[in-house]
Amino acid sequence: MTAIQAWFEECRSGAASLHKDCQPAPCTPPRLISVGLGGTTPRLVQPSPGERVEYTALSYCWGSNPPIRTMKSTLPVFSDELALDQLPKTFTDAIQITRALGIPYIWIDALCIVQDDSEEWQAVAAKMDSVYLGSQLTIAAAQTANSFYGCLNSDPLLDGVHHHEDDMFFRTPSLPGTDEQLLVRVYTADPRSRIQKTPLGDRGWTLQEHLLSHRTAFCMRPEVYWGCQASYQSQCGLHLTSDEIARGETTLPLMRGSNTATPLTSSDWHRVCAMYSRRDLTFPRDRIPAIAGITRYFAERMERRPIVGLWEETFSRDLAWVRASRHIMPKFSSLTDSVPSWSWLACPSSVYYPLDLDSAGGRVEHVKLVEWDVKWEVRVV
Ligand SMILES: [Zn+2]
Repeated sequence: MTAIQAWFEECRSGAASLHKDCQPAPCTPPRLISVGLGGTTPRLVQPSPGERVEYTALSYCWGSNPPIRTMKSTLPVFSDELALDQLPKTFTDAIQITRALGIPYIWIDALCIVQDDSEEWQAVAAKMDSVYLGSQLTIAAAQTANSFYGCLNSDPLLDGVHHHEDDMFFRTPSLPGTDEQLLVRVYTADPRSRIQKTPLGDRGWTLQEHLLSHRTAFCMRPEVYWGCQASYQSQCGLHLTSDEIARGETTLPLMRGSNTATPLTSSDWHRVCAMYSRRDLTFPRDRIPAIAGITRYFAERMERRPIVGLWEETFSRDLAWVRASRHIMPKFSSLTDSVPSWSWLACPSSVYYPLDLDSAGGRVEHVKLVEWDVKWEVRVV
């Protein structure tokens, strides 16, 4: 908790210089949880449209046992009071972190979207990019496949020895004149790739949550990591600067700041396709909605029109995806009933783009998309 507070304050107070790209874009989600600052009762609230609100957002796995949810029947109760002892530990930990930062609201999808109101669900899902772009901090409960484990269960020194097969540990001989030893930890891989090996890193919905957030606290075992546009840090003292972040393979321009002059390219989108196609979803029907927010983000910044995972302006190049694995995700096999087979979103396997289609120097386009139409049909399932 202390580490998150320190990183957050450093980032927020550095708004004029180093952390200038870390400031969230203004957003007013239609419903938020008041965390009860100043001794008030935690409850669901509806800010006025356009009202300036500061909030955090929670990124977590629902798991097979869905957490407590807001339904039409429970909305009046939760608007009156959210009893913290009824919430799963991940939710209450995230609320505690939010309070400790002095932020009055938090956004948690299970509670802030009325789950049996399909109209509201679709409206929010289509604008999920704004929710995460506007969050002061995204709290990523990365290490658990459900909402009951909590966010803050790590001890960087003790847990680290036993739980991090990716790292190397060794102890020094006793220090002169004492029987004290030093425990030395060596990161053997890019620590930012660690999130991909957690339950959260495998989920489809969470890709856009992490790519679009300006600041994220990755709550992992054995320690918490901080990622913002200017730095990546760990509780154990690892500190990557913005230059080192920019050189990383796992970094997209949008993670380097939505205010940056670096334009998004087709290659960036193709990397998103590869990352997203590896991820699992509880409901196959979510494969398009779970990437809708980031699609909208790219559409606005590239000034292109999306066509089921491809783009009107670069359609012929975007067709050049390749299936990457023999491994099939059976639940996605039926997607060809509703998604056209030319879209990588219909492929029940991971995909990638083998060619760098941005470096098209001198290439002549022989294909032009003359006319197209996509009709969306709402199915009640
Ligand atoms: Zn920052």
